[in-house]
Amino acid sequence: MNKPFLLLLLASSAFAQTKVDPARVARLLERATILDLHDDTTQMIVDEGYNLAEKHDFGQVDIPRMRTSHVSGLFLSIWTDTDRFTPIQTIRRTLEQIDAVRRETARHPAELALAKTADEILTAKKRGRIAILMGLEGGAAIDSDLAMLRTYFDLGVRYMTLTHTNHTPWADTSSKPPEHNGLTDFGKQVVREMSRLGMMVDISHVSDKTFYDALETSSAPIIASHSSCRSIANVPRNMTDDMLRSIAAKGGVVHINFYEGFLEPGFNDRENALKDEQARQDSIDSQTPNFGDRSRNGPAVRKINAERIAKLGRIPLARLLDHFEHAVKIAGIDHVGLGSDFDGADDMFPQDMEDISKIPNLVRGLMERGFSDPDILKILGGNTLRVMRAVEQAAQRAK
Ligand SMILES: [Zn+2]
Repeated sequence: MNKPFLLLLLASSAFAQTKVDPARVARLLERATILDLHDDTTQMIVDEGYNLAEKHDFGQVDIPRMRTSHVSGLFLSIWTDTDRFTPIQTIRRTLEQIDAVRRETARHPAELALAKTADEILTAKKRGRIAILMGLEGGAAIDSDLAMLRTYFDLGVRYMTLTHTNHTPWADTSSKPPEHNGLTDFGKQVVREMSRLGMMVDISHVSDKTFYDALETSSAPIIASHSSCRSIANVPRNMTDDMLRSIAAKGGVVHINFYEGFLEPGFNDRENALKDEQARQDSIDSQTPNFGDRSRNGPAVRKINAERIAKLGRIPLARLLDHFEHAVKIAGIDHVGLGSDFDGADDMFPQDMEDISKIPNLVRGLMERGFSDPDILKILGGNTLRVMRAVEQAAQRAK
């Protein structure tokens, strides 16, 4: 690109950034159903006795900070580290987390309500409660057994991410060289059973071939619970433009991840270059017993994260907005949502998006980029409600 043209482009995009009336942001937040598809706060609830009702000066999610942003609901992630747990231990750890989410929700009945459907989210909202839902991150937790999948569904889990960063015996992850060429025959059975039950198929973390296999196999729309755009940040677990178009063509929704490493080109390399912090983190991890008291490790890990952030700086909010804008341009306005990854990404989030209380900055940023109020309402949660309904209705039809 030649220089005068580049300058002209910069000038015109700066010009497009109109001043937004704060009253417009406030009005929209009042009206919106704001849903976040991926929050890893569950680990802190289980391991540190984290109380969602208290306002914390660490982590990204609690009730006071959700109230600041008028959050209507979120999916708490049920995640197990398969490098550390055997399959049987993984099932136990999964059940511990489901129990923790249900108990934490029941402990604050004036503030929270467990929800499983789009209607239950709206009912909770009407009653002034924040809806709490569960998403299972990593198909390893079913131990290749459809009975476990059905049991998790009965306990309230409403999406399953087919893999995390390891392959399952039936699906390839994007984090390792392929082993199964996508989904195995059993993997396709898993996807069909999820469609039958009404559990959303989540393709964040999976390999490209697994993505296309899942999309083809599922009889309902599918989601990415926390994935960003690969054409901006070339990370294997981000979505290519063709994936964005394909998931949209089937009625699905891509929920944009806020982690800096998936937003900013080269960020992961800079983070990985901080060898001292990594070595200290590895040593903490290696001392952590599989079961037992892990609570002392949270503060130590957060201290290392803070030192990393001091060295790396935070990327501007504009970069996150770039991903929303790109995803809407490619997939369409009906196919983009929020999948922050709060409490699951080493505290590394853009400037002005450091925790869930900062969602109003996203709303203002989208307005500055020219998005209409109806369009922003879709991104904040309208699209998620639609895809949940579509998955629920596909399951009804299958009965
Ligand atoms: Zn994840």
